[in-house]
Amino acid sequence: MSFTLAIVGRPNVGKSTLFNRLVGKKLALVDDRPGVTRDRREGDARLGDLAFTIVDTAGLEEADAGSLEGRMRAQTEAAIADADALLFMIDARIGLTPTDRAFASFVRKSGKPTILVANKSEGRGGEAGAIEAYALGLGTPVPLSAEHGEGLSDLYDAICEAL
Ligand code: GDP
Ligand code: MG
Repeated sequence: MSFTLAIVGRPNVGKSTLFNRLVGKKLALVDDRPGVTRDRREGDARLGDLAFTIVDTAGLEEADAGSLEGRMRAQTEAAIADADALLFMIDARIGLTPTDRAFASFVRKSGKPTILVANKSEGRGGEAGAIEAYALGLGTPVPLSAEHGEGLSDLYDAICEAL
């Protein structure tokens, strides 16, 4: 089975880090500064016995180049429209922000199967954000550490369930 999964969420939650981990190459630019993912990037991802196309989105990073709302919609809508399922990512250390909530309502309205991922969940400090994430109405958050490669088997299960 072949399918396309788009990673969406506000800047700096770790979307490109997960993209790189699943593709196994440094195709997406990872940076501390919001604003580095300029394009939608696609790669061939592998996770266990799953092989799929993964799309890394820019989120709001280009917002200052035009209307914030407009940029968000254009970027996110295009990625969502082309995807079979979405991976909606939040930062478990920071918890929910207004931007997360705006993204979440947009994602919910799309009606696409969505996996909620609470990234940066390694060590201590991730629990609060993961608990908050339940309030998004996107199901049970999958705790993940894209950077350390933790939680990938739970992500695998969540993808299988979503499809
Ligand atoms: P994006 O803007 O959503 O694409 O986020 P990036 O992938 O560029 O990552 C933003 C920052 O978060 C970088 O400094 C990453 O190293 C860091 N980061 C990504 N994943 C994790 C993680 O699992 N744990 C921690 N602690 N930091 C992470
Ligand atoms: Mg990025």
